[in-house]
Amino acid sequence: MGFYKVNFLPMWLAALGLALIQPLSAVQILQASELPPNPQVSHVIHVSIDGLTASMLQDQLANDTTGRYAAFQRLVDEGASTFNARTDYDTTVTLPNHIGMLTARPLWQAEGVSDKHHHGFPHNALPEGDRMTLHNSGNEAAGYIYSVFDVVHDNGMSTALYASKDRFDIFDISYNETFGRGDSTGEDNGRDKIDYYANTNASLSAQPLHTIVMAELPQYHPNYTFIHYADPDYVGHVHAFGSDEYFDAVADVNGYLADLMRLIETDPVFRNNTVLIVASDHGGTDFKGHGDQTMPINYTVPLFVWGKDVAVNADLYDLNPTNRQDPGAERPPFDIDVVQPLRNGETGTLALDLLGLPSIPWSFMTNAMNVADFGYEGSTLKELFLPLVLLGR
Ligand SMILES: [Zn+2]
Ligand SMILES: [Zn+2]
Repeated sequence: MGFYKVNFLPMWLAALGLALIQPLSAVQILQASELPPNPQVSHVIHVSIDGLTASMLQDQLANDTTGRYAAFQRLVDEGASTFNARTDYDTTVTLPNHIGMLTARPLWQAEGVSDKHHHGFPHNALPEGDRMTLHNSGNEAAGYIYSVFDVVHDNGMSTALYASKDRFDIFDISYNETFGRGDSTGEDNGRDKIDYYANTNASLSAQPLHTIVMAELPQYHPNYTFIHYADPDYVGHVHAFGSDEYFDAVADVNGYLADLMRLIETDPVFRNNTVLIVASDHGGTDFKGHGDQTMPINYTVPLFVWGKDVAVNADLYDLNPTNRQDPGAERPPFDIDVVQPLRNGETGTLALDLLGLPSIPWSFMTNAMNVADFGYEGSTLKELFLPLVLLGR
């Protein structure tokens, strides 16, 4: 343990030593503030694939001779990605991780941070009645728990949530005209933060949900869309994660992604103005579960970013040399002294940054990861960057 703990002094000494050996001009040291700005787009489609296990998908892609996972391969070849992102530190179940993606908060209080920045909602079931919210059933010290939907909607843009498990009703209730917070940003866009909501609670396949998505997106063009596809998780619980049936479900999701990518490329509103983010809430085991948050197979998740001006065929850790650290096989905690891995819980913050909006008030994962190309040709990023600067961008 502890190799991801940043040891400031030896790094400074190493850098200093390098500077003494060769002229500084030979090594270009970029400050965090010199990272290129992220692409700015009018639309973000934020997808979560429930139970998409990083190592299983990676193995399938390595042996995919028939193009069964061609959309995933395009995300790797044409976008910025990693197969080594992390879930929430304390949980590898569905709802708390999705709350993380949509609020940029960890489940529990992080080391060295006040008690106002975690969501504190560990439940993973259908909300009881129509008055249970993240605000009244989560972290009491937080008061109102803002979401991506708040920031986008309060800034006059439109939002949509499409989910395939009924427990996602907690979002529709938490951000409706009764429980959503009043809009104090510019023009009053109202308390109901989610403009379009559909939930199919599919038994095995999210195809009915995807049908709704493909009918509504070209009609409404929400500026921010969150889509939850549950197929691999449902099938993983019945047949085991990594079973033939599980991979059939992953291939089905590949089809959904292909449809979304085609829509982004052909729709006159989405074309050249959209970024697609694909995340996962947790992995899963061959014994049909994923509840143990200490198991690498559960806490290791893939992350893909694809679309306008996103770096091509890039590793997300290479694009974030100063503010994120590849954790290897470890499970770094939310600790302000630890350089964080890329996490599923920071994808909402990325969505806001791409839309030109500020991060979520009182959230924890507030510094958007970089997804832009550095634009240096003929040099590897590792040569250009020394691990000198540890500021968030
Ligand atoms: Zn899940
Ligand atoms: Zn599950």
